[in-house]
Amino acid sequence: MRYISTRGRSEPVTAAEAFLTGLAPDGGLYLPAEFPGAQKISPGEQELDYRQLAAEILELFLSDYTRAELDDCLQRAYGNNFDSPAVTPVTMVRDNLGFLELWHGPTCAFKDVALQLLPHLMTTAVHKVGFEQELVLLVATSGDTGKAALEGFKDVPGTKVIVFYPEDGVSVVQQQQMVTQEGANTFVVGVRGNFDQAQAGVKALFTAERFQGELAAAGKTFSSANSINWGRLVPQLVYYFKAWGDLLRNGQLRPGETFNVVVPTGNFGNILAAYYGKKLGLPLHKLICASNRNNVLTDLIRTGVYNRNRHFYQTLSPSMDILVSSNLERLLYELVDRDPKRVVAYMEELQRVGRYELTADEKAHLETDFWAGYADEGETTAAVQAVYNQYHYLIDPHTAVGYKVYQDYLAATDDGRPTIIAATASPFKFNRGVAEALFGTAAAATVDEFDLMEQVSAATGAPIPPGLFGLKEKPLRHRQVIEPTAMEEAVRGILGL
Ligand SMILES: *Cc1c(COP(=O)(O)O)cnc(C)c1O
Repeated sequence: MRYISTRGRSEPVTAAEAFLTGLAPDGGLYLPAEFPGAQKISPGEQELDYRQLAAEILELFLSDYTRAELDDCLQRAYGNNFDSPAVTPVTMVRDNLGFLELWHGPTCAFKDVALQLLPHLMTTAVHKVGFEQELVLLVATSGDTGKAALEGFKDVPGTKVIVFYPEDGVSVVQQQQMVTQEGANTFVVGVRGNFDQAQAGVKALFTAERFQGELAAAGKTFSSANSINWGRLVPQLVYYFKAWGDLLRNGQLRPGETFNVVVPTGNFGNILAAYYGKKLGLPLHKLICASNRNNVLTDLIRTGVYNRNRHFYQTLSPSMDILVSSNLERLLYELVDRDPKRVVAYMEELQRVGRYELTADEKAHLETDFWAGYADEGETTAAVQAVYNQYHYLIDPHTAVGYKVYQDYLAATDDGRPTIIAATASPFKFNRGVAEALFGTAAAATVDEFDLMEQVSAATGAPIPPGLFGLKEKPLRHRQVIEPTAMEEAVRGILGL
């Protein structure tokens, strides 16, 4: 299978090349030239082993990898590093409502599912395309991606991973997770600035030609692990198929029946994977896109207008605090009937005026698959409370946004068919919001986040996941904090250039 760019001005490439390049040279995103036919994947009677199911799905998209290569990558990616043998178990809280727990990996958020696999796909790709250089992964993070990339690439031969995070822009738990990171090839640097400054610095390094030349001469190349990389998306299809199998096996769904998924959304990666699943035959009725107060996607799906000219809010669900959803470009490509010129026109409009409007046809296409809503801060906390009180089940604030939007969907449509809400983070990873819901804002304000974790665990009986247990006592391994202007210097220092 070949991969083409959404902007139509780059040569088609193999999956291995798409993984190593990340962004297409014309600035577009890679996607399959054709989708494999529907109904290729159908769950049988038995519970599918996660790795086996993943191999079947990856095989369809990664035709330049052998089955043995895929099996080897999957073997390394999904094992004891996940604290559930199912990898992504579904917990049904009532007959027609379940949570797809995507947070059982080492960093307790859903990004682990892709980032535990991507390093192995990439290092295999290096050998396949005869590209014998060291991969230097450069990551700017608002919290979850950085830690997941560090854990994924930790001690993977032939790679280094350098993460820049905004010193005051991540939670106490996220910062502690990163500055205590182990591994001989991991580097974590705080930036005295915000996420946008860290991200701009990384982008500048990717495009600095002189620096690229020096790097190549030293036998190294920069690479990207963020969610525009096709290698981040394809592993995310697997758990939606797994959830389908679970629903069928447990009798909540009969063959031929459809279900809904609700996805707490920021950069539009996770929900896009569900959309691709539907193209592949996953019997999905609606993809319910849940946003926090940064509800640019809610407006797009409801009105057909994408408008980033608005206030940016910091919320209880920080991993969804995004106004430019980069993966949306891949959906746009489908909405405009795969005409790259129209994608380019929309993207230029977004660049120029920060806004574009879909045609009536495109909007109708969007509405057949998607429904959208959002939750503000009070509604998010109330949802954590409601789910705990009703089902004795603990959810994190991102997942709570999904639950609230699902309630809105039910009120608007009366659609009682089985629904799966993607639980994107462990409640303990964002436990301040959870503690506020359980104990009240005043009580939650009196203790530090690590003590809060223990209090939440004691009050609910839910265990602190292994990735967060004992985090407070872990030795500090990364102390460097720099000005945003010193990022190139920091990378030179790390790489000895
Ligand atoms: C990254 C993240 C999201 C948003 O996922 P996208 O694929 O960017 O839409 C939601 N919840 C959590 C906990 C995340 O880390």
